[in-house]
Amino acid sequence: MSSSISKSDKKYVWHPFTQMQTAPSPLVITKAKDSILYAEDGKEYLDCNSSWWVNIHGHGNTYLKEALIQQYDEIDHVIFAGVTHPKAVELSEKIISLLPKDLTKVFFSDNGSTAVEVALKMAFQYWFNLNQPRKRILALEGAYHGDTFGAMSISQRGYFNEPFEHLFFAVDYLPFPRIDLEDELLDQAKVKFQSNEFAAIILEPLVQGSAGMYMYSPYFLNELTALAKSFGVLVIFDEVMTGWGRTGQLFAMNHINETPDIVCLSKGLTGGVLPLGLTVATDHIYNAFLAEEKTKALLHGHSFTGNPLACAVACASIDLTQKTEFFENVNRISKKHSQFKLSLENINTIEIRQLGTIIAIEIKLPNSDYFSSIRDEAYHYFLDKGLLIRPLGNIIFLNPPYCTTNEELDKMYLGINSFLASKNLIFNV
Ligand SMILES: *Cc1c(COP(=O)(O)O)cnc(C)c1O
Repeated sequence: MSSSISKSDKKYVWHPFTQMQTAPSPLVITKAKDSILYAEDGKEYLDCNSSWWVNIHGHGNTYLKEALIQQYDEIDHVIFAGVTHPKAVELSEKIISLLPKDLTKVFFSDNGSTAVEVALKMAFQYWFNLNQPRKRILALEGAYHGDTFGAMSISQRGYFNEPFEHLFFAVDYLPFPRIDLEDELLDQAKVKFQSNEFAAIILEPLVQGSAGMYMYSPYFLNELTALAKSFGVLVIFDEVMTGWGRTGQLFAMNHINETPDIVCLSKGLTGGVLPLGLTVATDHIYNAFLAEEKTKALLHGHSFTGNPLACAVACASIDLTQKTEFFENVNRISKKHSQFKLSLENINTIEIRQLGTIIAIEIKLPNSDYFSSIRDEAYHYFLDKGLLIRPLGNIIFLNPPYCTTNEELDKMYLGINSFLASKNLIFNV
């Protein structure tokens, strides 16, 4: 039942992260409202992963729509070098008011990867401008920071980016901070920082998303941040995924006392409606770029830097995060998730992790080849049940829009339970 859209898609479209030879035809989604995606053939799907982790308020939000239309009538787009516009300024003020007080300067780009690229360029050029030769960077094993070259360089190396590996810059990695390794890893980091060679450290705070929703402690995040800062190493938090309520707080950094020098934001920034990335830095970093020489400036930009439509929708999305319903919903989903987690505890074939509105179920089977087949099997099993869940290998996870109702959450949990039961991983359904 391949429609004309499917046929033309097959003929003309090259999809992301997709082996085009073997992948089945993509779902054709023609409409979306709140947490529901409507397919061309009339079938409905719950958007269990927020349309690639971006949609926080649900689809078709009328407040965001009004902001978009109004802005379109004012100004659609304009160059952002030598020019500014009201919504970029308003957005910067709003962002600064929400972040720790040291973070004061906002740089605009288009997505999460570019927000990370900008952070890296800020960090390396900071030391360059100071005439101090710090060139090394520390990241965590399992990291994912995007798909551009700089972002790939600092991410986990593996078959995803093997063809490009010879082009990456050298990066030091710290093992994932499992609870029993924390103090040992802090000692390892200290030895590295003592070399005075490290320009920066970059972290996905508290949750490594693409690795499989791996979670580590606020204690470790706080101590590592403090340690790095004590050696002058710049600390970059990639909050592209963890921002905007995902971890139960507005930002993951709100779980700790220490604050980063640079933070990267995207995904939920516009409510997941338009592409936009922000890299926010401290005055301390910004000041290192001030000089008579133009070459000390951050010579970076994109055609769509500071796009007014994206800025207007981001401002409106931030307004929604300040309403009481926002955290009521975040807390409601977090609580439902933790009850579901409890219901699955003490089953040794799965490991279950939860923080805020993210819950992940890792299927632990001995044969690792089986992992990839269970991923495809699970994906299609859930589609059949009206759930759009895109597992990360053998890890099934939910990070739904915050408008998702309790009934819809129950449908997701039931779907997961019945999948686990179908694989004889649990028996209690
Ligand atoms: C998704 C993601 C990115 C990349 O963002 P894109 O908008 O896909 O380029 C970077 N960092 C983290 C932590 C992410 O989850």
